[in-house]
Amino acid sequence: MIKGIKVMLIPNNKQKTKLFQFAGSARFAYNWALAKEQENYNSGGKFISDNDLRKEFTQLKKTDEFKWLNSISNNVTKQAIKDACISFKRFFKHQAKYPRFKTRKRNNPKFYQDNIKIQFNSTHVKFEGLSSSKKQNKQQLNWIRLAEYNRIPFGKDVKYINPRVSFDGLNWWVSIGIESEDSISNLSNSGIGVDLGIKDLAICSDINKPYKNINKTKRVKQLKKKLKRQQRQVSRKYDNLKESKVFEKGEKPKKTKNIIKLENKIRKTHHKLNGIRQNYIHQTTTNIIKRKPSFISIEDLNVSGMMKNKHLAKVVQEQCFYEFRRQLEYKTTRKGIKLRIISRFYPSSKTCHKCGYIKKDLNLSNREWVCPKCGCIIDRDFNASLNLRDCKEYKIVNG
Ligand SMILES: [Zn+2]
Repeated sequence: MIKGIKVMLIPNNKQKTKLFQFAGSARFAYNWALAKEQENYNSGGKFISDNDLRKEFTQLKKTDEFKWLNSISNNVTKQAIKDACISFKRFFKHQAKYPRFKTRKRNNPKFYQDNIKIQFNSTHVKFEGLSSSKKQNKQQLNWIRLAEYNRIPFGKDVKYINPRVSFDGLNWWVSIGIESEDSISNLSNSGIGVDLGIKDLAICSDINKPYKNINKTKRVKQLKKKLKRQQRQVSRKYDNLKESKVFEKGEKPKKTKNIIKLENKIRKTHHKLNGIRQNYIHQTTTNIIKRKPSFISIEDLNVSGMMKNKHLAKVVQEQCFYEFRRQLEYKTTRKGIKLRIISRFYPSSKTCHKCGYIKKDLNLSNREWVCPKCGCIIDRDFNASLNLRDCKEYKIVNG
């Protein structure tokens, strides 16, 4: 099975410039190939193979106008042309919409690296062709520092799949796939029901202790406050800008240096918040998996439905339910644990786990489950997690 790993890069200024150049040429080559396919298609021609396009591209590089492309590693543009052909082919086969051109505004900078030539050591990654000189000291430009040491395995036997380099508006990242063998370990006989919620992130049926809602911690609250303040500042700056002079129709005010600075700060805060949330979800899902259940049951949450409710939408988005499920899905698959998805219409919180009585008019503010039939008193979410564990109607999403 292929495991994906993504690690942040710490390039120096020279390397940063090069990375943007590479991404720019990848976009250029992609658009060029797409335009060629389009032109050909509109005049009644059939699909042009990426081989033919690449030959034409090589000729293009010999002309004066496009000789700047020669300073870019060949593999970058080669793969971009391939990608354009693939997306055009998918449209041909009615598998995808008509491919769009990549623009600076819509698409994050991104390019491909050759999977044989890319190299890693414990601290750095080597890209191809950042330096045009073969001299040893100039070759150092090719080695970019990694933000996490020893995360990506290296050595003679390691094969990398589809390495990509991308920029998210703030940082550069390298992502690769690695073939890894699954370790199916001895699983325990029991399963775990997981009830996801707003008050706490998750309640598991095997331990009566919830995973807290990370958004209620002091650190996240502080960051959210900071974000709000920065957003207010920037919108005030925009207002001032709009009032400063009369703009003609279609004319947009040009961003001032201060606005750009502030927007970068906002991006950074967003990034921090995201990191904290993402990290917490990873810790939680890994923690559940580590207990080696034979199966995990979760409710099929109607996330898009909840997003329609204004009050819920923000909370749900912050809780990252979708990400939680995505992680559970791939982590259980790796360990050979079955992931059971239970219909969202199953009344997990309205049913008494002890006697099966269904209480129709359950009040959401009631944190405690008090059964009118058998009289048992139990935490409401814990009761729900037990019901999810024992529910016999489910869909298995892996294996
Ligand atoms: Zn009962």
